[in-house]
Amino acid sequence: MRFPKSVTILGRKFAVKLVTTEKLIAVTGQRSVGALDFSGKTIYILKDLSRDEQFLTLYHEVAHAVQSTVGLDQITSPELAEIWCESMANGFMDLAKIVR
Ligand SMILES: [Zn+2]
Repeated sequence: MRFPKSVTILGRKFAVKLVTTEKLIAVTGQRSVGALDFSGKTIYILKDLSRDEQFLTLYHEVAHAVQSTVGLDQITSPELAEIWCESMANGFMDLAKIVR
């Protein structure tokens, strides 16, 4: 599966950028493998990951984008949000294996 340069989530288009650790630290202020800039409509993914890890991270950030779009991030604790996003990402990975 080709890695997308953009994704449209609930009608909002996000650029998807594969970036260095340094760029991710500049965006998030900490070490991470991915980040969502919701207002900037950009998803950042660490380029040094394997392709499967890049997709897992993309799906995780997509789940964050869904949460932010519908306002779930406003009523969920950060810890629960992370658990929900990681669970959704793993579910998307399982689905992607079926539709490949
Ligand atoms: Zn997260």
